[in-house]
Amino acid sequence: MIKSSATPHPEYRVLDLLTAPVWVVVGRGNDVVFANKAAERLSAASDLHELRHGSHSAHAEEQLAAYLPALRAREPIIEIWTLHRNGAAVPLSCQLSLLDQNPQNERILVEGILASLPSAPVSQLDGLAEHGLYDQLFHSNGAPMLLIDPAADGLIVDANLAACRFYGYTREGFCRKHTWEINTLGRQVLPIMSEVAKLPGGHRPLNFVHRLADGSLRDVQTYASPLEMDGKRLMLCVVHDVTEQKRLKNELEYAASRDPLTGLWNRRHFLDLLDKARQQKRRNDVDYSLLILDADLFKNINDQFGHDKGDEVLVLLARTLENRVRETDSVCRWGGEEFIILLSQTDIANAAHLAECLRVSVTEMQTSALPRITVSIGVAQHQHEETTESLLKRADAALYQAKASGRNRVVVC
Ligand code: GH3
Ligand code: MG
Ligand code: MG
Repeated sequence: MIKSSATPHPEYRVLDLLTAPVWVVVGRGNDVVFANKAAERLSAASDLHELRHGSHSAHAEEQLAAYLPALRAREPIIEIWTLHRNGAAVPLSCQLSLLDQNPQNERILVEGILASLPSAPVSQLDGLAEHGLYDQLFHSNGAPMLLIDPAADGLIVDANLAACRFYGYTREGFCRKHTWEINTLGRQVLPIMSEVAKLPGGHRPLNFVHRLADGSLRDVQTYASPLEMDGKRLMLCVVHDVTEQKRLKNELEYAASRDPLTGLWNRRHFLDLLDKARQQKRRNDVDYSLLILDADLFKNINDQFGHDKGDEVLVLLARTLENRVRETDSVCRWGGEEFIILLSQTDIANAAHLAECLRVSVTEMQTSALPRITVSIGVAQHQHEETTESLLKRADAALYQAKASGRNRVVVC
């Protein structure tokens, strides 16, 4: 829910005078700090994720922050967002620009382009066919290219050799298909396409998922530009396969945020989660709590059973913790044999109750091949305006007390 009115930004209020919807977003985060009145009307029940990833949305970059270098260089960035008008989802082209160049406080201005744009410059291809230029530009191009007629239900009117190879269709077969048959969005791609058709060229390619003839799916970036041919207003769509790139990026992101042994969140990612929880509490006043768990006398486990068995116990412990908490909670391997759990929307009483359940679950954890262990747990609830550092310290102090008072117990701070 975008709550611009809850945190008024007087300096932006002047943007309320605009009839076009306008949002101001933190450059390095996903927080909308301001939405003008027109934007609130169109996006009242949506958060930024919904706007950017809704049924009619398309974008070049997953994270807004990825645009920052281009925005600093004043490159035009266009995204298509999903809004709601009279209860129906509609696509809206949005132009992104940097509002504040101060690197400490970069803010992105997102302006909805409500009125259809003055007609975009359209390339004229009339007569090119006779000169063989069309063949050169289109058919012998190494990049897959499709020529689409938006007015004919997104019919693919021509496909070059590279496209036929990539998708696995013959040219004849391809030219009977529609964009919505190859785009996994199905017919929802049509309103997005007509929005793209209104844009001037020069925007970044947009991300979609396309289906090949054999049914397999590919992540693609498509760059579409308007083009007039024999009196028809068509769209030339250049397709770039980014499946491998996306897979590698996902792998890197996974590796950057996970602990390799257990697959749980790592410390770095968990600190981000704690930051977000703190911001959310500021906005919505919802409690959250922390549990810090440490395996008791784990050195003995290694000494008696070997380090590899010790590793297996840590993995089993990780799965046990994960299975006992809600999906909205986050379990992290804080380091070594120490784990930490963020319990969202949880006050101290519920956190203490869950900690006790976890402690018992660990004592009951068993597989014939692995030694039994116990854990000590410190519990703390975030206090009003408390820093994350202080919260961690209090939970850690509680854990220390649990150890000092005999281990295999829960202490609430
Ligand atoms: P306490 O109850 O006071 O926490 O006793 P402890 O033995 O668990 O604590 P201590 O800090 O003395 O030792 C931690 C042990 O955890 C020693 C270390 O080898 C082991 N450990 C830490 N990380 C790993 C790991 O990744 N794999 C294995 N197998 N052992 C680990
Ligand atoms: Mg320990
Ligand atoms: Mg320890």
